[in-house]
Amino acid sequence: MRRWMAFVLAAVLTGGLTACAGTPADPDEAQESIQVIAMDTVMIISAYGEKSTHTVYMAEDEIRRLEGLLSRTEPDSQVSALNHADEQPTAVDGEVSRLLNAAALYSEVTGGTFDISIAPVVSAWGFTEAENRVPSQAELDGLLTHVGMEHVHAESPDAVWLDQGTQVDLGGIAKGYLADRIAMLLRENDIPRATISLGGNVLAWGDRPDGTPWRIGVQDPKRPDDAEGFAGLLQLEDAYAVTSGGYQRYFEQDGKAYHHIIDPATGYPADSGLISVTVVADCDREASDGLPGTGTMCDALSTALFVMGEEKALDFWRNSGYDFDMVLVTADDRVVVTAGIAEQFTPDEAGGYAYEMVS
Ligand code: AMP
Ligand code: MG
Repeated sequence: MRRWMAFVLAAVLTGGLTACAGTPADPDEAQESIQVIAMDTVMIISAYGEKSTHTVYMAEDEIRRLEGLLSRTEPDSQVSALNHADEQPTAVDGEVSRLLNAAALYSEVTGGTFDISIAPVVSAWGFTEAENRVPSQAELDGLLTHVGMEHVHAESPDAVWLDQGTQVDLGGIAKGYLADRIAMLLRENDIPRATISLGGNVLAWGDRPDGTPWRIGVQDPKRPDDAEGFAGLLQLEDAYAVTSGGYQRYFEQDGKAYHHIIDPATGYPADSGLISVTVVADCDREASDGLPGTGTMCDALSTALFVMGEEKALDFWRNSGYDFDMVLVTADDRVVVTAGIAEQFTPDEAGGYAYEMVS
């Protein structure tokens, strides 16, 4: 019961993906599940195997450690130090500089639709401090002059600095990196199977105890408060599934909704015709070395593809060279699934969507 409640909470509060647990074939197989509230989300860490208890608590420590390092709102985090350094070069951990460089790479390959230097604009909309407001066009125009990865200088961890007026927000990539770190812990502790649900970022590790794939619900963005309201179900083994959606964080003013994923080209919440993007990619267990990897990639890409819109997202899927699949939910009530996961995807007719498979 407690675990079921936790999954419901995850879906309600984060509006993301939900891992549906199965009935263990071997009831003696040790299992531990904990809920952690961090990075503004409810996270569920659920592992099987001999070292499951040890590992889930190590994962919790890792969540707290990374939150302390990467948070924009923790005054003592390294990201806060950078953001308030007033152009002075600051020494950061190698890990932080690697993540900044990964973010720079994803900004470049996505044509700037993913951009961590969007931070001042995210704040202007009040998403950082949860005091939402609609900024004026003049204010946005001023802030946008400080947005762009050319303002972030992270060549060496010994001296990282941001140009005047620039700040960084790793909210679009941090949970994906956290998933990469937790994958490393699962590998190091010989965990045979686990589900890691980090508010919209899911890692399905191994298969279910009965040997079938994990079932991951793709939240129906039109029914964000319904924990059972899915646009479809994905059957996944050793895979990351990461959702970005406007429904996950938004406010309303004068009857209009404003969400948290900002188009760096306009400074406004992206209005691309997509209401959610789920990126799915294989998790190579042996390669889970704790460096920014596939989890980080999925997180950066889901944010970027949401900003791009359907046509550009499909172009990117076909031509970028990155190995992933997607489930796109459009504002005009279609669910578009790319060929690589079509067989693992089951539509949920209750949402009233038209389903399309693309190759
Ligand atoms: P996600 O849920 O991974 O799509 O990330 C959304 C979060 O990333 C927002 O809450 C902001 O903190 C930040 N963000 C918003 N727009 C962008 C963008 N275009 N590129 C990178 N990060 C963004
Ligand atoms: Mg993201």
